[in-house]
Amino acid sequence: MEIEAVIGLETHAELETESKMFCACPVVDPATAEPNSAVCPICAGMPGVLPTINQRAVEYAVRVALALECEIYTSSIFARKNYFYPDLPKGYQISQYEKPLARNGQLRIQTSNGERTIKIRRVHIEEDTGKLTHVKREGESYSLVDLNRAGIPLLEIVSEPDLRSAEEVRAYATGLRSLLRYLGVNSGDMQKGVMRIEPNVSVRVTGQTQFGTRVEIKNLNSFRALERAVAYEIQRQSECLKRGEKVAQVTVGWDENKEITFVQRTKEEEQDYRYFPEPDLPPLVITSEWIEHIRANQPELPIDKIRRFQEQYGLNKYDAGILVDEKAVAEYFERAVAAAQALSKVGSETTNRMENTDYPADIGAITPKTIANWITGEIFALLKQSNTSIEGIELTPQALVDLINMVVRDQLNQNTARWVLSKMLMTGKTAAEIVAEQDLGQVSDTTTISNLVEQILGKNPDQVSEYLQGKQAIYRWLIGEVMRAAKGQANPQVVHSELQRQLDALKYPSRRK
Ligand code: ADP
Ligand code: ZN
Ligand code: MG
Repeated sequence: MEIEAVIGLETHAELETESKMFCACPVVDPATAEPNSAVCPICAGMPGVLPTINQRAVEYAVRVALALECEIYTSSIFARKNYFYPDLPKGYQISQYEKPLARNGQLRIQTSNGERTIKIRRVHIEEDTGKLTHVKREGESYSLVDLNRAGIPLLEIVSEPDLRSAEEVRAYATGLRSLLRYLGVNSGDMQKGVMRIEPNVSVRVTGQTQFGTRVEIKNLNSFRALERAVAYEIQRQSECLKRGEKVAQVTVGWDENKEITFVQRTKEEEQDYRYFPEPDLPPLVITSEWIEHIRANQPELPIDKIRRFQEQYGLNKYDAGILVDEKAVAEYFERAVAAAQALSKVGSETTNRMENTDYPADIGAITPKTIANWITGEIFALLKQSNTSIEGIELTPQALVDLINMVVRDQLNQNTARWVLSKMLMTGKTAAEIVAEQDLGQVSDTTTISNLVEQILGKNPDQVSEYLQGKQAIYRWLIGEVMRAAKGQANPQVVHSELQRQLDALKYPSRRK
């Protein structure tokens, strides 16, 4: 019996506006702000107050809806979703139900099987709830209410059940996060809870058209937890099906430590939200001129940027994807490429003047691929080590290109350059400054290296004859000796070809001219 998974995602993303959705309270960081310091009678749910709609929040929502290629309704309606819980001071949440802001969109995602299109069912605006902290200690047990988050604009993005694996769920989630970050509406931080994803998972016999019973997973605070929890549920439900049992319709939580899901609520415990139109707000009317204005100001979106990076810079899809993932990284890369191009223009003028030298014509040319490798390799590793982002470092794209240029021109070898880069990040100094201070200039002139090789071969006649009798391992040792004699600053390529040449000369003396 072959079984396939069917998954649809509900995503809540706070819209990072200055003020809340229906009042003038500032949006503050709940991690640092004094609890209940950004609260007014409106978001505290006092009787008799009236909400007003935050225009910027609507603009952000339209940006997302456009990026998801949705149909946007020029007239949508706010509704009250009623339930009683202490994080909801009004006793209802203002949301959208029957006439949401937007419908029928799509998100293109990248998986190991290629590109897939996931349909978006709806996008609607609502408000966030407050935050409860449950305290339990000896002899007492109570809950703290912080309303700073209550009323922060929230966007709900609901997908169709188009996803088929945990891998696809992750790709959808990271793709959506990247989109929200590019649009500048959300930081995409799942740990902080500003982006929250609830997958609905069901399984069915492959080929069957009807959906199975779904299980909704809550409380996932990382992409890793999301992927694991979905994989776990698929496995659990598949085994259920194979045993001939029915999957129960429940809401589950994810136990981070045990890596299992556990039942939070059964179908019978599901609430009836008694939705009805919000009487205190008129329909939300958006002119098509405004929509077109927002469309005209949309930034380039990740998927388009990936395609452009491939075409314009000759990168492969994988490298382009890694660079584009963070907007700041993509910008850094493009500024570095521009710096390298400016440099090679100067370079080509000089090479023209030196036409009779035996330099290859493209000496000094730094390819976009080389820059991409330095960023995704060395710089990413250093960022990870120091737990910073590309925005937080002193190294300008120009300074990086100057360093790469020294490698391309054989003034530094790759290893030394890596070390220099880490020093640059720590000190903010240029590559040239560090190289001069530490006396790191790489030896690549052939005569010097040739002399070094000759010295080493002369000093070690036993090893040389062992090598000539076929002991290949000696070769590496000889390389090491030459590099040591050059204090690690010899160009390994030149050392290699010079050593090879001199050993060949000893091996085949007859070939000697
Ligand atoms: P609600 O959870 O508010 O009742 P819906 O029933 O419309 O909303 O569905 C919520 C999410 O669950 C959507 O993303 C949808 O794609 C997904 N979904 C619906 N039915 C299934 C199913 N049988 N298996 C997996 N996902 C489903
Ligand atoms: Zn308020
Ligand atoms: Mg639901």
